[in-house]
Amino acid sequence: MPELPEVEIIANGLRPFIIGKSIGDIQRSALQMRRDSPQSELLRLRSQSVMKIERRAKYIVIHCDQGDSLLLHLGMSGRLLFHNAADELLKNTKHKHLTISFHQGGTLTLVDPRRFGMYEVIRTRDIKQHPTMNNLGVEPLEAAFDAHYLHTCIQQSDRNIKNILMDGRIVVGVGNIYASESLFMTGLHPAIIGASLSLLICGRLVQAIKEVLIKAINSGGSSLKDYVHVDGSIGGFQDEFMVYGRQAQPCKICESSIVRFTQGGRATFFCPTCQEMAS
Ligand SMILES: [Zn+2]
Repeated sequence: MPELPEVEIIANGLRPFIIGKSIGDIQRSALQMRRDSPQSELLRLRSQSVMKIERRAKYIVIHCDQGDSLLLHLGMSGRLLFHNAADELLKNTKHKHLTISFHQGGTLTLVDPRRFGMYEVIRTRDIKQHPTMNNLGVEPLEAAFDAHYLHTCIQQSDRNIKNILMDGRIVVGVGNIYASESLFMTGLHPAIIGASLSLLICGRLVQAIKEVLIKAINSGGSSLKDYVHVDGSIGGFQDEFMVYGRQAQPCKICESSIVRFTQGGRATFFCPTCQEMAS
């Protein structure tokens, strides 16, 4: 599942291909996604030009010039690919759910075998009230995500810190990979209870999250299974994981075996030597 760095890279990668272009045609498949718009609403975007592309949490918002926006989410297995119209590869691609062609050339395609993703046309002025947007926490790379914010959010919480970090109502876009890697960087056991963390430790954790996310963005994101850039190329941050997916392999710092256990229904990876329960 793409996390924040991967979605940021896709949004960044799209801009040079489609900003300023006007939408020629837009076609959906007959299959339902987690959320989608009917063809009649999608057609509102025809002849509108793309003005701006934003990322909010793991959503990509394509703003058009006549008051409409296209909200996209890649779910578990979605890919957003830009091709030249005559590209043979595009014709042979399966699981295409949304295809947008541009008057100036090129096609943007949403491919999603598992269909947990979404696409929806909304009025730009209504975005903040949209049910997918109105309950989101702070962006981890913005200044509002700081030691005081995290400490305030968690000081009453008896949940473990990993699940807190993955709660999008507190901070958005931090999933299993980057929560695991940030906790390793801070030396915190993933099962430690949120309320036990001091302001000082919260500050270290916030800093680690920002560093891990920025490093991942600069490395092109983590390409596991489905994630690719808009041009089909892959990221390289998976080679830099310290704990994620490395069960039974030696810790890159202390050589202890990395341990995998299940937490909140998700696999968690940590080093039993480098990551402590006490803070
Ligand atoms: Zn270690």
